[in-house]
Amino acid sequence: MGIMKPDILRAGLSAMYYSGAHKLLAPYAGGIGLIFMLHRVLPEQPRGFAPNRILQVTPAFLDAVIGQVREAGLDIVSLDEAHARLIEGAGEGRFACFTLDDGYRDNLSHAYPVFKRRGVPFTIYVPSDFPSGKGELWWVALEEVLSANESLAVTLDDGEVILPLRTAAEKSAAFERVYGWLRRIDEDRQRFFVRELCARTGVDLQALCAGLIMTWDEIRELAADPLVTIGAHTVGHYALAKLPPARARAEMADGAELLARELGVQPRHFSYPYGDTASAGPLDFKSAAELGFKTAVTTRKGLIFPEHRDHLTALPRVSLNGDYQSLKFTQLYLTGAPFALWNAFRRVDAA
Ligand SMILES: [Zn+2]
Repeated sequence: MGIMKPDILRAGLSAMYYSGAHKLLAPYAGGIGLIFMLHRVLPEQPRGFAPNRILQVTPAFLDAVIGQVREAGLDIVSLDEAHARLIEGAGEGRFACFTLDDGYRDNLSHAYPVFKRRGVPFTIYVPSDFPSGKGELWWVALEEVLSANESLAVTLDDGEVILPLRTAAEKSAAFERVYGWLRRIDEDRQRFFVRELCARTGVDLQALCAGLIMTWDEIRELAADPLVTIGAHTVGHYALAKLPPARARAEMADGAELLARELGVQPRHFSYPYGDTASAGPLDFKSAAELGFKTAVTTRKGLIFPEHRDHLTALPRVSLNGDYQSLKFTQLYLTGAPFALWNAFRRVDAA
């Protein structure tokens, strides 16, 4: 997840949709497929202060997107099949993959029934610490702390500040400020800050993780279905590019090994935590290939082109995002036009 300006992006996407510009761009921008990224799937839409709402969509929206993708003539395939098509040279039609990051329990209770009914294969990327109850979902913890308090003293780079938290607007401003700072600073310092904040405000990080994330047994239940692929997502969900190289590589290798031990299957697909340019770089793409992953996905925006055959561990994705739950936008995504503009017509971004 990242900080974005949803209103501006929404306006731009709407303008593109109604102007029909995407139809002109489609033949150049459509690629051979795309990989959708989701996190949480929940029927209820949060109200008021809920900064992590961008991470969730409703089961009804997911179902509608599946229908739209099929209507547009794309094959919905597993990552193994997408990999095969990339290696062997694209066959007939375009393809779409569905992927969900982090292993939220609602993937089992609300996403799985939709995928199952539709016969749609999908992948869930799991950080090995999360089903063990040791995961630090610090972005959720920060929301909890800001929700439950009327003001809060924190020490950021510019010294101690008192954050006013009386209204939803004040809480949102505080979240944006602290979240943005936590994403920029050193990873260990970030975790230390969040642990200390949770300790003094009574938020239990482990209970939060156990409440939101599937147990190993629940993941095994899902993994038994041939529709489901479980992919690796490191051990502790750190931004790899911000760690020393040896530690980053160990995060990737150890996370996969723990998954293999718990599930009895070696994970062959990987997702970089956060996945933006500051969190995953060329060194990490190289490590993923050397560690034997067939594919690895970022959160950079884009469709899949034949050229990605040479960049199988730096595949872009298309976010199905809580702030953009409109079939108008997903129709645009399928043409690739918004990404062609965002990426200035560069089809592969692996640097
Ligand atoms: Zn993640």
